[in-house]
Amino acid sequence: MSGFANAMEVFSLLDRSNCRRCGEKTCMAFAGAVFLGMKALSACPKLDAETCARYGDRVSLDQEKEEQALSVLIDKVRRLDPVETAARTGGKLSRGSIVLKVLGKDFGIDAAGNFVTDIHVNNWVVVPFLTYLLQCSGEQPSGTWIAYREIAGGRERYPLFQKRCEDVMKQVADTWPDLFDDIVHLFGGERVAAQFDADISVVLRPLPKVPVMICYWKPAEGLASELNVFFDATVERFLDAGAVFNLGAGLARMFEVLAQRHGFVLPAE
Ligand code: SF4
Repeated sequence: MSGFANAMEVFSLLDRSNCRRCGEKTCMAFAGAVFLGMKALSACPKLDAETCARYGDRVSLDQEKEEQALSVLIDKVRRLDPVETAARTGGKLSRGSIVLKVLGKDFGIDAAGNFVTDIHVNNWVVVPFLTYLLQCSGEQPSGTWIAYREIAGGRERYPLFQKRCEDVMKQVADTWPDLFDDIVHLFGGERVAAQFDADISVVLRPLPKVPVMICYWKPAEGLASELNVFFDATVERFLDAGAVFNLGAGLARMFEVLAQRHGFVLPAE
């Protein structure tokens, strides 16, 4: 997270022209990205150097803090018993590294604290991955699904979660007819019997015992489509609301990039 109290504090600094030169579709989307620490304030070319310097310091200080927090997490993970941790978290031990399946692909950490994986080391995966290794109690998912706003600390963040995760995924699903079949194939997901009267329900596993269910209602008879994301009711025992947010927003961003790589043109917000 950035040093800003909320996305509106960032938004108040912007000229609100939605010119998209920062790479985001709207100034509000940019404000959300800066608040979450995913973009630097200086990525908006319309802000003057003095404003960027004034607030940029807060961002860089925060980034420094994030790097320190990451080092602390890595140190704690290095002190874990690898055999016990692999067994408890649903992972495996491979050449001294603790390896988990992340979206169907191997993602691990070795005894020296280096990440071992064939996939890109995304920031949105690293913190949930380390947090999960430390906090995972070993219990199995309950099979009961809850919305993000039902997680402790999720209610107040839900409007931003909806914007950065559910709305983005819905836009991709509306544009890419085979999205769900393709992500099942690409990420080792599973089509499950439709839940909550949805047209399509898909379960992905960003971490072995943290299933995420995406439910999509197609547009019909003048009604717009809908998309909701659900988590297993045990999720709070593995991750906090911030790490769950990172997972959801990271998945959505990945779908968006994949859609663009497949040549789909996503509509402007
Ligand atoms: S470049 Fe600045 S003004 Fe333009 S959309 Fe992005 S944040 Fe808004």
